[in-house]
Amino acid sequence: LPVIRAQSSPDYVPDAKFYKVEAILRPWRIPKVASALLKMGIRGVTVSDVRGFGAQGGLTERHAGSEFSEDKFVTKVKMEIVVSKDQVESVIDKILREGRTGEIGDGKIFLVPVTDVIRVRTGERGEKAERMMGGRADMINF
Ligand code: ATP
Ligand code: GLN
Repeated sequence: LPVIRAQSSPDYVPDAKFYKVEAILRPWRIPKVASALLKMGIRGVTVSDVRGFGAQGGLTERHAGSEFSEDKFVTKVKMEIVVSKDQVESVIDKILREGRTGEIGDGKIFLVPVTDVIRVRTGERGEKAERMMGGRADMINF
């Protein structure tokens, strides 16, 4: 499978210091993606089991009314990763590299501007709160 890169980022992305990379991916690809992210110093990741439908699977109406059959929802994993702006593209590239099979159902990535980060333990905000000890910024600067 040839490696692809994300196309260059569009100019309509609102400017923020932090972004949430929200990726809906194939469950069995998550270990690959997670270990690759860890290796690049991305230590803060949240995952949830989700179900959805996209091109891969549809929602079918059961009756003419309001009931929907849910058996066409496909099991996916949502990965949420908040990073500083300068780390967004490398995280996206890594997810493409490790999450992609090239088949329908590989998923989608949403990029969401994040206005602030607060560390509950310390009350720190902004860059201080977003930075993680031994994280990517540390890896790159030392
Ligand atoms: P502390 O320094 O107090 O240990 P921390 O910043 O390392 O705080 P944790 O309290 O270990 O953060 O994080 C709790 C949970 O928050 C993690 O299990 C993860 O789900 C989520 N999380 C933390 N940082 C991020 C991040 N940058 N992106 C996404 N999820 C994160
Ligand atoms: N930007 C953080 C750092 O370099 C890492 C964020 C994350 O692990 N999600 O410390």
